Amino acid sequence: MTAEFVELSRDERCPCRSGRKYGRCCGQKAFSFGRNAAGELVKQTKLVPEAAEIIRAERDRYTAYYGRPPSKEDLLFAFSLNPADSIYSLARDLLKHDVLPPDIIYAYCRSDGLMPVEGNLDVISDGDLAEFTDLRNEYDELAETPDDGSHPTAVWFVTNGNGYIGQVIQEVLPAVRMVLSDFLARHSEQGDFVDFQIKTPVDYANFSAHKSMKTIRTIEKLCEHSMPEAIYALTRGLLENYLYLNTIANDPTFFEQKVAPRADRANFAFAVKDGRIDYNRVIHQATGAEQSIWVTNRALLKHATATDRDLFDLFYQTACQFVHVDVLSARAYFHEADPFDELDPSSLATLVAAVLSGQLISALSRIPGVDARMPADAVHFLRKLSDPMSISLQLASSDPEHKNEVWAVLKRVVDSWGLESEVVDT
Ligand SMILES: [Zn+2]
Repeated sequence: MTAEFVELSRDERCPCRSGRKYGRCCGQKAFSFGRNAAGELVKQTKLVPEAAEIIRAERDRYTAYYGRPPSKEDLLFAFSLNPADSIYSLARDLLKHDVLPPDIIYAYCRSDGLMPVEGNLDVISDGDLAEFTDLRNEYDELAETPDDGSHPTAVWFVTNGNGYIGQVIQEVLPAVRMVLSDFLARHSEQGDFVDFQIKTPVDYANFSAHKSMKTIRTIEKLCEHSMPEAIYALTRGLLENYLYLNTIANDPTFFEQKVAPRADRANFAFAVKDGRIDYNRVIHQATGAEQSIWVTNRALLKHATATDRDLFDLFYQTACQFVHVDVLSARAYFHEADPFDELDPSSLATLVAAVLSGQLISALSRIPGVDARMPADAVHFLRKLSDPMSISLQLASSDPEHKNEVWAVLKRVVDSWGLESEVVDT
């Protein structure tokens, strides 16, 4: 409060670390240094018109939401400043969208929010401006590729790693969507999805391709907006859909016994017990025979490879850190990744989604009844993706400070795409 603020005397040493006297340093700027009633150093500056505008909007919102204007005890900007938004997440967004050169974002991040621009130089002390320049130079040194064979820095690793992985996912996901679109084109006609019914394994494959295209489109958007939690939540659908397809491809009875009765409303109805619908059991309308359509993880993993089984466990361990409601699992919510020390969590989540959508394409191509060219086309497509995805996963797993076994298992998956032998026409 102004009443408690006493400006420093001109002869005091300036607190901005410039070494000059206050009157010849920050005393000439558009802000003042002084002390409050408790004797603490305080920087006082005029509100810019934009801030006054936000405060006015906040007052209106208070009245609209709570039926009262904010009182003296209420916080300013409570609606617009989320305490969970850290400088790290802001810096990551700036980096991701190439808004500013990385050295400036690094200095912004490490100076805890300084951002000198032409219009605000008179409200930033010379000491802070000097620190900002030092930090920009520090970034340039850390980001340099070592030419003497020494280990690159974390800043180098993260900058280059994010660049590479970002480029790979930007190429892979649209390619995957196009292959899914082609899959639909090969197995359905315009208008089929208006009143779509699942009667055959190929119908189920079409449903999966259609659903996965939408999921991947959404994941691309979520990655742009840095939302790893939502990406993992959706990626779970890709994994489970893949396991269903893989089981249908390997076990001819699975579709008939577990999938078809669920969708076939003409011949089956859900069982009813004590007035409640049991969604895990169906009754055949004509014969009255009751059967279980309950699908266990064990059944879905029965035909999966050892790598798929490892992936299943590790995927859930990883995803749960982002999506679980239990605080013991949801560790990601208590950790904000430093954008210059950790690879971008949403790019990594998207990389997981990319691997699982590749697996999904592989399983789709093996569904009984699909177009005969599909298996060989899928093998060729995945083989092309193998190398860049493998390098991305190698990068993810080579961060010594943020270990997760899931990267090695995902790498095993994409490496197997590269090894897959040519499909022989039968
Ligand atoms: Zn100063």
